[in-house]
Amino acid sequence: MRTLFKLSTLIAIASISAIAGVVLWQTATISRQIAFDQIEERGRNTLNLLVENLRGDLEKFRYLPKVLSTDPVLVAALTTPGSKDLINRSNAELARVSGVSGASDVYLMDASGLTVAASNWDLEKTFVGKNFRYRPYFQQAMDGRLGRYFALGTTSGERGYYFAYPVRDPEKRATGPVIGAVVVKLPVGHHEDSWARSDSEVVVIDDMGVVFMSTRPAWRYTTTRPLTDETLSTIRDSRRYGSEVLQALVTERSDPQPDGRFLMTVRHHAAQVRRPGESFLVVEENIRDAGWRVLLLSRTDDVQTQVRTAVAVAAALLTSLAMAAAALHQRRRRLADRIALQQRATSQLERRVEERTKDLMQANVDLQREVAERKRAEEAVRQTQASLVQATKLAALGQMSAGLSHELNQPLAAIRSYADNAKGFVDRGRVEQAIRNLGEISGLTDRMARIIRNLRTYSREEPVELRPVSIQAAIEEALTLLGQRIEADQVEIVKDLPDMDVQVIAGAVRLQQVFVNLISNALDAMQHSEVRRITITVRDARERGSVLVDVADSGQGIDEKEIDKLFDPFYSTKEVGQGMGLGLSITYGLVSQFGGSIQAANGEQGGAVLSLVLNRSPEPVEAVA
Ligand code: ADP
Repeated sequence: MRTLFKLSTLIAIASISAIAGVVLWQTATISRQIAFDQIEERGRNTLNLLVENLRGDLEKFRYLPKVLSTDPVLVAALTTPGSKDLINRSNAELARVSGVSGASDVYLMDASGLTVAASNWDLEKTFVGKNFRYRPYFQQAMDGRLGRYFALGTTSGERGYYFAYPVRDPEKRATGPVIGAVVVKLPVGHHEDSWARSDSEVVVIDDMGVVFMSTRPAWRYTTTRPLTDETLSTIRDSRRYGSEVLQALVTERSDPQPDGRFLMTVRHHAAQVRRPGESFLVVEENIRDAGWRVLLLSRTDDVQTQVRTAVAVAAALLTSLAMAAAALHQRRRRLADRIALQQRATSQLERRVEERTKDLMQANVDLQREVAERKRAEEAVRQTQASLVQATKLAALGQMSAGLSHELNQPLAAIRSYADNAKGFVDRGRVEQAIRNLGEISGLTDRMARIIRNLRTYSREEPVELRPVSIQAAIEEALTLLGQRIEADQVEIVKDLPDMDVQVIAGAVRLQQVFVNLISNALDAMQHSEVRRITITVRDARERGSVLVDVADSGQGIDEKEIDKLFDPFYSTKEVGQGMGLGLSITYGLVSQFGGSIQAANGEQGGAVLSLVLNRSPEPVEAVA
C-alpha cells in the first residue's frame, strides 16, 4: 500500500515536472519568437525608411548630370579649351548648382579625364587640373551611358556616390562623339549620422562585397567575402577606396532559429576571431540600381532577457499553480483521512455496541436460566421441607403412639366398665344410675374424639398459605398431644399467657408442630434433671406488630460453643436412634416461612431458652371498634 502510494506520487511528480518542462520550453520558444518578430518588424520598418531615403537621394542626383550635360556654358568650355572666361563661368555655374542641390562636388571633365571646371574651384583641394580618367564612372560616361560609382574621394578623402553623364558635341548631340563628362558627387556621411541615431547598426555593401558605409566606423572598408585578385586590382586601379587596406569583416551566420531566421555574429576582423562577437538579427534590402545591399543589424541582447523574464513569470505561475494544486490535494487527502477515521471510529463503536449487546443478551439468558434454576431449587427445597415436616410429624406420632394408646385405652376401659355397670343397673331396674353411667360414657367418648381429632389435624399436610392463628390454641394443642409424656415424666408446665386471645400470621398445623418440637426437645433435655419445669411465656408486643414467645426449661442447657450449629440439619447430641437432628432445623424453616425468627440461649438459672418472634395479626375490624 505504502510503496503503491509512493510509486503513484513519483509518477505524479514526474508527469507534473514533464508538463512544466514542456510549458516552460514552449514559453521560451514562443517568447523568443515574439521577441524576434518584434525586432524584425521594427528593423524592417527602419530599414525601409532608410532605404527609401537613400533611394530618394540617388534619384534626386541621378538626373542632375544629365541636365547639366546640355548646359551651353559647360559644353562651350569643353568645345573651346583654354577659354578662361568659359572656365570661370563654368566654375561659377557648377558652384551654384552644387550649392542649390546639396551635392558635395559637381565638376566637368574633358575627354582625357582632366577636370576642367569644378564647384570647388576655389578650394585648396580643388579637383580642377586633376585627372580622374581611372575612375570607372568616367569610363562609363565616355562609353555614352550614365556612369555611377561609389568611391572614396582621392582628393577630398570623403566618400561619395558619383553620377557621370557624357557631354556630347552640340552639333551632333545625341549620336555625336563624347567630348567630356559632367560628374556629380553626392555625400553619404550625413546618412550615417542619421542612422547612428537608431540603436541598430546599418551596413551598406557594394557590388564587390566591400562595406563602404556603416554606423560603425571600424566596419568601414572591410570585406564581407574574400576578394579575388582581379577584383582587388580593379579596386586598386580605380582607386576606389584610396589607400585604405581592406580588412575582412568576419561574420558568421548562426544555425537557423526554429522560425527559420538567422542570427549574424560579427567579429571585427580576423585577429579578433577568438573574441566573442556581437549577435544581430539581420534584415536586408537591395538597391538594385546602385548594386548595393543594405543590412540592418538589430541587437538581440534583449531577447534573452525577455525570454528569461517570460520563463521566470511562467515558472512562478506554474509554481503557484502546482502549490495550489498540492494544497488542494493535501486538503482533499486530509478530509478523506478524517472521514475514514470517523468511519473507522463509528464502525468500531458499532462493533463494540454489538458486542456489548450480545454480552448483555447472553447475561440476560444466563440470569433467566439462573432464576429458573433457583426457582426449581426453591421448589425442591420446599418439597423436601414439606416431606421432612411430614416425616418428623410421623416420627413424633410414632413416639407419641405409646402415650396415645394409653390415653385412649384408659377411657375405653372406663367406658367398658361404665357400660357393664350400666347393663347391671338396667337389669336391676336402677335406670337413673344407668343413665349417669351413659353420661360418663358420652363424656369419655368426647375426650377420645378430641384426642383423635388432634391427631388427624397434626398428621394432615397443610397448604402453604398463611393466615391468622391463635397462639394460645397452638400451645394447648401441642401440650395435649404431648400430655401423656408430660404426665409420665412428671413435668411441671408453667404458662404465662395474655388473657386475650393473640393471633399470629402462620399455618395452624405448622405452628402446632413448632411447639411440639420445642416442648419435645425440652422434655428430652430434662430427663436427668431433678426439677422438671417448662415455662411458656407469650408477650404481645402490639406496638412492634409482633408476638414474643419463650419456651424455657430446667434441663441441661446448651453447650455455648455449639450454639451456632443448633439449627443446622442433622446436628444432634442425642444417642443414635433417639434424635435425627432435624427438629430445630425444620422449626427454623417454619418460623422463617411465617416471616418470624428463632434464637436459642441458656437461661439465667440454667436450662435452655428458645425464643420466637412472630408477626402479629392485625386486630379484626369489629374487635377494634
Ligand atoms: P434432635 O432433637 O433430633 O437431636 P433437634 O434439631 O431437635 O434434633 O435438636 C438438636 C440438638 O439441640 C439436640 O440434640 C440438643 O443437643 C440440642 N437441644 C435442643 N433443644 C434443647 C434444649 N431445650 N435443651 C438443651 N439442648 C437442646
